[in-house]
Amino acid sequence: MSGLPQANGQRYHFDIYAILEGSQELYFGHEVMINVNMVETVRLVLPNGEGIEKCYLSPTKRRGIERRCLLWAPCSNGKMLGEKLNCHIPKTCTKPECPVCAVYGGLITGRQTLIGRLTHGGGVAIQQLLPEEKQRAMHPSAILNDDPSTNSPTPFKRQYNEPGLLYPIYNHCLSVTEDEFQAVAYAFLDSLARIGSGNPKGASLYEMDNTPLLVVDKYLVPHGARPVISPGETSVERALQIFQDKARRVNGGTGNGEYITISNGNFERWIGWSAYQRLQAWADAFVNRVLKAND
Ligand SMILES: [Zn+2]
Repeated sequence: MSGLPQANGQRYHFDIYAILEGSQELYFGHEVMINVNMVETVRLVLPNGEGIEKCYLSPTKRRGIERRCLLWAPCSNGKMLGEKLNCHIPKTCTKPECPVCAVYGGLITGRQTLIGRLTHGGGVAIQQLLPEEKQRAMHPSAILNDDPSTNSPTPFKRQYNEPGLLYPIYNHCLSVTEDEFQAVAYAFLDSLARIGSGNPKGASLYEMDNTPLLVVDKYLVPHGARPVISPGETSVERALQIFQDKARRVNGGTGNGEYITISNGNFERWIGWSAYQRLQAWADAFVNRVLKAND
């Protein structure tokens, strides 16, 4: 048994495919070596046997940022959503009726588990550009200490992902209702400006010809090519072309270049701005139904 109550209405699968661009340097904490704060990288081997290393926006970090966006979302009663629901990090409430735990899952150690139905993927940068190490004047943790030595700043080194790196990313929802998916749409959009640890933060949807590289699928049966980029791809030009080709490759589908449907609505795909507007409509519905709810 999943432990989930019967849904109030039809369940669907939902997918979000996007290419994000780091708007500036980004730091994603990985390991702290002596006085050097490392970012996370991944190593992979290309088909020709060459081993390479790339920067990485890890799916688990995005998941954490999205959950925090929901728990810190502003409610009309002056509380944040996590306070209103008594759902926190790491103390999740694990209730199936919690709009956050219902999709992100929850865990009360040794007592209760609620299976998450949202998974995150991708995140391997396209460009093969290693982190840059920079010197900073004072480590942020020193500011918290009541230590007289903090009057003389301790220099430290921190690695950063270079600005302009592109990260193909994917969010997948398994058997959720449209109401439940509203939280995912809200969290996805709201988290963009908050990606990264420390400061600065923020990534944006990468635009090509003024159109965001974004695809949203809602379906009962998967159709079409999934706009996923191989982690071994190092050419931005090729990666963008592959994303756009796959986004439009839905055999037997009808619709225009921005919306494709197949088999009587068993599969629907929104592309570019229409995908963005669809996500915004779901996010708005989340605000009205959950954040502005009178209770
Ligand atoms: Zn919860």
